[in-house]
Formats: sequence, structure tokens, C-alpha cells
Amino acid sequence: MSAVADRRQELAAGLAAVRGRIAAACDEAGRQPDEVTLVVVTKFFPASDVRLLADLGVTDVGENRHQEAEAKAAECNDLGLRWHFIGGLQSNKAAAVAAYSSVVQSVDRPKLVGPLARGAGNRPEPLDVLLQVSLDPPGTEGRAGVDPAELPALADRVAGEASLRLRGLMAVAPLGADPAEAFGRLDRIRAGLVAEHPAAGWLSAGMSGDLEHAVRAGATHVRVGSAVLGSRPVKK
Ligand SMILES: *Cc1c(COP(=O)(O)O)cnc(C)c1O
Repeated sequence: MSAVADRRQELAAGLAAVRGRIAAACDEAGRQPDEVTLVVVTKFFPASDVRLLADLGVTDVGENRHQEAEAKAAECNDLGLRWHFIGGLQSNKAAAVAAYSSVVQSVDRPKLVGPLARGAGNRPEPLDVLLQVSLDPPGTEGRAGVDPAELPALADRVAGEASLRLRGLMAVAPLGADPAEAFGRLDRIRAGLVAEHPAAGWLSAGMSGDLEHAVRAGATHVRVGSAVLGSRPVKK
């Protein structure tokens, strides 16, 4: 078999396993599998893998670095995929990210909103935005995401932009903590957000290691990389 056919088979097996896990978790939680969108995180993997994934029925892919994402999105422009930006955003790159992304999941400070809105201004449809909320204790090193106390102001800021559509929240479970507790907390934060912004009910939570906990807590999007694609190549 050719290398491409081998890789296709690997990806098909990874996808089948992850879809099976999502279906089982939904079943257990009394949810329908189509309530959960699988975003396959393709960071560090080549555009050829994205192409194979699209052929295997993947509709949503996630990337966390602007340059890599922009290049891959351009190379895969013919596939009709939705690109989710899930990485740390710099305000001087935010407008460019808005140009190729369908969803920006990692908005975590007011400073990003103006550039994002400008970058999204030329789109036929508003850009879907998720606010990344931190579930770490305050003061944690490398903490990404807005503090829950500052979430309402950030939400209002995004909702005030015509070219952006506030859709909900994204979070990563804290390292070494109980994901069930963390995602339960996240779901309560979502309830507070939805009370003010009824259309902002999306919840992006859950990765390869903890997607079952996220589905149980009501995730509408899971972001899965290594369980589909294998372990990531070492960072250059
Ligand atoms: C890399 C990444 C993922 C996917 O992680 P896996 O453990 O490989 O599934 C999910 N979310 C974010 C924000 C990431 O950076």
C-alpha cells in the first residue's frame, strides 16, 4: 500500500475511535451525537493530512499558530472546511486571523476585539467568536483565558461589534485538576453568559484526554488532535 493510503487508513481509524467515544459519551449523557461538533486539531501536521481528513468527512479543523494556519487554510481553500483558531492571539495578527477563520475561539481580552472586528468587516457573514475563559486559579503561570470576573465586560464588547457574532465559550481544563469539576464550573459560567447573551450557548471544551467529561458537562464542540492524528511531530 502507498504511504498516502497507509496514512488515510491511520486517520480513518483515529477518527472512528474518537467518533465512537463521542457517541458513547453522548449516549451516557442522554445527548444526541449531532449536538457535538468534532473539531480536529491539525496543528503541526501537514496540509496533506487536512486533505485526507476532509475526504473522511471532517468539516471542522483547528489551528493554534497564525502563520501555519494561514498557509494551510490557503492550501486547502478548495475543501470548504471551517477553520477554528484556538491559539494565543496577538492583537497585531487578529485582523489577519479573522480573514480565514470561521470561528475564533481564543478571544481573551478587550484589546483583540477592535482588530478582529476590522478584519471581519469584509466578510459576507459575521465572524463567530468564542471567549476563552480561564479555569485556573488566579496567578497560575501561563494562564490563558479571561478571568471569569472579567467575562461579562468582554462579552458586551464583542456583542457590540456588527462584524462579530458572540457564540459562547472555550476553555482548557487546568493541568492536573479534576476535569469534571472544571467543566462543571465552565457550564455554570456559560449559564451566566447565556442569561445576558441568549445566542452565546456554544461550549468548546474537551481534548483527546478528557472529551468524555466535556460532553457530560454539555460541550457543543470538542477539540481533538492526537487521538485522531497521532502524537504531534516535535516543535521546530
Ligand atoms: C492542541 C490543542 C488541542 C488538542 O489537543 P490534543 O490533546 O492533541 O487532543 C485542543 N485545544 C487546544 C487549545 C489546543 O492547543
